Amino acid sequence: MGCTAEDIAGALHAAAGVIAEHRIELIELDRAIGDGDHGENMNRGFTAIVSTLEDKVPDGPGAVLKLAATTLISKVGGAAGPLYGTAFLRAATSLGAVEEMDGPAVATALRAALEGVQARGKAVAGDKTMVDALIPAVAAAEAAVGETGADVTAVLAAAAAAAAKGAEDTVDMVARKGRASYLGERSAGHLDPGARSTALILGALAEAR
Ligand code: ADP
Ligand code: MG
Ligand code: MG
Repeated sequence: MGCTAEDIAGALHAAAGVIAEHRIELIELDRAIGDGDHGENMNRGFTAIVSTLEDKVPDGPGAVLKLAATTLISKVGGAAGPLYGTAFLRAATSLGAVEEMDGPAVATALRAALEGVQARGKAVAGDKTMVDALIPAVAAAEAAVGETGADVTAVLAAAAAAAAKGAEDTVDMVARKGRASYLGERSAGHLDPGARSTALILGALAEAR
């Protein structure tokens, strides 16, 4: 009961829908502590992923995630484009040429995504970035795998719930990376837009199953 390339394409389609629904919210979050483009950036990227996949769904989950990565890198500028692009690329690489992605592969892919984001952006826990949603998501995914019989749905649901909580926890943080860090202490009291988009994407992927 793993995830095929078609399943992942469908899940990315669902993520694009959720990002589109939350475009204004992400813009407003970024307007408070950044430059107000995060909703537009993410919507442009995910809309492009959907249209690329409409042409053709590549063979295998890894190839689908790789296509999503290259699309994000080419269509989304700013900080988030290269960071999400790296996340999807590392997740793709971790899958190799498997035909179906199972629960443990989801956890491995999420850890690879986190490591890629951290290698590229150098953010650590508490810096008020997407990393603060990803770190608890990876921990929850790995814990779900540790419980016998964790399937893709259970692993993604655990990751999504932890990411949502992790994103909420960025409200109290002072930003130390990205544009929000220019505000120093004034960045506290606001939800980080990238942490929110990470939680939205993981929530959509979990719901799509
Ligand atoms: P920009 O800041 O270039 O306008 P976006 O608004 O699209 O880019 O994305 C901003 C988000 O990117 C932030 O909310 C934060 O979550 C994330 N981000 C910024 N810098 C880093 C970093 N070094 N590491 C991880 N995430 C980061
Ligand atoms: Mg921005
Ligand atoms: Mg920008």
